[in-house]
Amino acid sequence: MRADLAGWGRYPRHSGDVVTPHSAAALRAVQAGLDPYVARGAGRAYGDAGVGLEATVSMRALDRMRAFDSVNGLLTVEAGVTLEEIINVLLPRGWFAPAVPGTRFVTVGGMVAADVHGKNHHRTGGFGAHVASLALLTPQGELLTCSRSENSALFHATIGGMGLTGAIVEATLRMIPVETGWIRQRTVATKNLDSTLAALAKAEAEATYSVAWIDVTPGRRPVGRGVVFTGEHVLAAELPQGRQVFPRGRRSRVSIPVDLPEGILNRWSVGAFNRLYHGRAALLGNADLVPWDAYFFPLDAIGDWNRMYGRGGFLQHQCVVPAAAGREVVAEILDRVAAAGCAPFLAVLKSLGAGVGDMSFPMPGLTLALDLRVTAQTLRLLDELDRVVVAAGGRLYLAKDARQSPDTFRAGYLGLTRFETLRREIGAAGRLASQMSSRLAIQ
Ligand SMILES: Cc1cc2nc3c(=O)[nH]c(=O)nc-3n(C[C@H](O)[C@H](O)[C@H](O)COP(=O)(O)OP(=O)(O)OC[C@H]3O[C@@H](n4cnc5c(N)ncnc54)[C@H](O)[C@@H]3O)c2cc1C
Repeated sequence: MRADLAGWGRYPRHSGDVVTPHSAAALRAVQAGLDPYVARGAGRAYGDAGVGLEATVSMRALDRMRAFDSVNGLLTVEAGVTLEEIINVLLPRGWFAPAVPGTRFVTVGGMVAADVHGKNHHRTGGFGAHVASLALLTPQGELLTCSRSENSALFHATIGGMGLTGAIVEATLRMIPVETGWIRQRTVATKNLDSTLAALAKAEAEATYSVAWIDVTPGRRPVGRGVVFTGEHVLAAELPQGRQVFPRGRRSRVSIPVDLPEGILNRWSVGAFNRLYHGRAALLGNADLVPWDAYFFPLDAIGDWNRMYGRGGFLQHQCVVPAAAGREVVAEILDRVAAAGCAPFLAVLKSLGAGVGDMSFPMPGLTLALDLRVTAQTLRLLDELDRVVVAAGGRLYLAKDARQSPDTFRAGYLGLTRFETLRREIGAAGRLASQMSSRLAIQ
């Protein structure tokens, strides 16, 4: 089937062939005739990582849960199973995922391929750290088991490898036990970047989950005021009587039905939202019990929220820089965004630890993510920000990227040479390619 494909940011768009196999055997048969292709999960990567150069293999129909070992918390699922499906089945039995991104509408294959990080990365690592083993279909048609002890080079290249080592068919994951589906959230409103960083450091030392929202209203000085959120799983004994122990996740309550006009997210509307958001946190400023979906996935409450940015789409610039350079780089980025008069609708800051894969995004340091509408001015600004990130020894997250240059990419991903060597060895060079790998000249 021919289709127009894009990532969550709806930029860039490409047309190509899409095939949807329903079993590992069908996948093996179909991939032999495709050149070059890449696997795709739920299409939640923002840019062009999940769009094949010629063909795209949708993994969504490989959606069976295979086995659950309730003694060790080991779950085996096909790669097209979504995080939402896992939580729906396992949370009522007292198990949760060890690391979750900001949306539950992602597949296991996508989470492994991007080695996604959650609000606990600095403590327990990303999704890849909790993968016990993978079944990987190589471009030569071999179905290999990969783990830390078996085909370990391929295992470490596949975690964070953005689909460029083969199609992940199945994964065995270590889940974590929880007593309730509730999170105790604390919020601290801060006045400037230094107080935000200090509150974030304190939160990281004390809590399992931590993240900061930053107010990037154009013209606001000093930059960097925000709200720091922490979270802890609530124990059964702490839950007030009458609360459902494992609340069901709510589906989107509202949806954006059409593309909104391009200018609707502007410096005034974003500024007004930021004032309200910060003001509310400053007023509340204490602990609250929130259901798991509201804590981990607040954006999932609004269906198709990517349409808010209009037909032209939007970009997320997510960088990570080594801890020592963190404050200076974040301050410089916020200053440059403010000086350009751009109004990111979302700005999030958190700390990361090391990643598991050769191509994993995380490194010990600070990560800052900014959502911006696609305009010529945004593209110029982001090129400037890339130079700041590279000079500090940082890199950009491939799962969010749609526009960085090959030079920026090469400067940041030091495991690339090993990755490309392995790709040549398994016959992936030339056979497995996404729009992203082609744009970044990954061999
Ligand atoms: C609202 C929102 C919030 C987010 N928050 C976070 C966050 O907090 N932390 C974070 O780390 N990420 C975050 N992300 C990014 C998201 O978690 C990743 O992009 C993830 O990879 C998406 O999974 P997917 O199933 O949609 O994969 P896709 O977007 O379809 O594909 C992503 C990559 O995975 C590869 N892939 C997918 N399936 C397979 C497979 N079976 N075998 C081999 N390769 C495969 C694709 O080739 C592609 O390179 C967020 C995204 C959104 C939209």
